[in-house]
Amino acid sequence: MRLRAILFTLSLLVVAGLALGFANRRTVLPRVFALLVERPAPKAPPPLPPSVSWSGEWYTVERLDEATIAIGEPRSEGRNVSYLLLGEQRALLFDAGEGWADLAPVVDDLTDLPVTVLPSHLHYDHLGSVGSFSAVVLPDLPMLRAQVRDGVLVPTADQFLGFVVDRDPPALRVAGWWKPGDVVDLGGRKIVLRHTPGHTPESVSLWDPQRNWLFTADYLTPQPLFAFLPGSSIGEYRATARGLLRIMPEDVVLWGGHDERTDTLAPQLTISDLRDLAATLEAIGRGEAAASGIFPRVYPVNERIEIWADIGDR
Ligand SMILES: [Zn+2]
Repeated sequence: MRLRAILFTLSLLVVAGLALGFANRRTVLPRVFALLVERPAPKAPPPLPPSVSWSGEWYTVERLDEATIAIGEPRSEGRNVSYLLLGEQRALLFDAGEGWADLAPVVDDLTDLPVTVLPSHLHYDHLGSVGSFSAVVLPDLPMLRAQVRDGVLVPTADQFLGFVVDRDPPALRVAGWWKPGDVVDLGGRKIVLRHTPGHTPESVSLWDPQRNWLFTADYLTPQPLFAFLPGSSIGEYRATARGLLRIMPEDVVLWGGHDERTDTLAPQLTISDLRDLAATLEAIGRGEAAASGIFPRVYPVNERIEIWADIGDR
């Protein structure tokens, strides 16, 4: 009788634990992933196309034009790409790498201009070397402002996801706040900040109207788009896609923040990728999109892109 009672209690605890885990799946899954999946070792340096060169042993440098440089990490699993935008008076670094090697000396080699760093969002793989730069600006969003204490913002564990790689969130001393829609003058080059939530609530993109280039980071990049993480939202993803489609010209080039699947060039997308994403998001909203998997739900977008969403998130 006692054994039965113990077994009954244990099963209740297991069921309650599973139910609690399921209810909190967005925060639980990344942590379970961190516990179970071993971090992949850096890959061997791959051969580079002629337009790309090494800067040290970790980073690659690709000139997209005379004033724009993609800094890649082809040896990392996520194949991060950060972008250095040069003006006549100053430079803007969009994202600070995954953090396996210091990005500051690479940037130092590329420009003598004062450098401002703007992270596209607060995930650990975009803040890797942020501590090596003195001028860090953030998008002026109420949720971020509310987190600041004495001029310093420390991302929460769910914003940073550093437990995946055993890393603590950095203390970001905020040198400035840029409002969505702000035009940032780098000297002879104007850049517009766009708030593009969906992957995370604080995600931003950079619009370069002279070139018709949009730097989209993780919002749109040729690989699975993560919309199942803490803070992700399919509804915000869709609203962002609608907004971008209204204002982006036909010949826009979108530069993404990762590319796990292809070669060592900066990931480049077009308006048709944005349209495919928008169409998938609209179909998800109507409950008509084909999907596989339970959590995350995997929705194909096109041959290069899929979007991973939470169960029932429309
Ligand atoms: Zn991310």
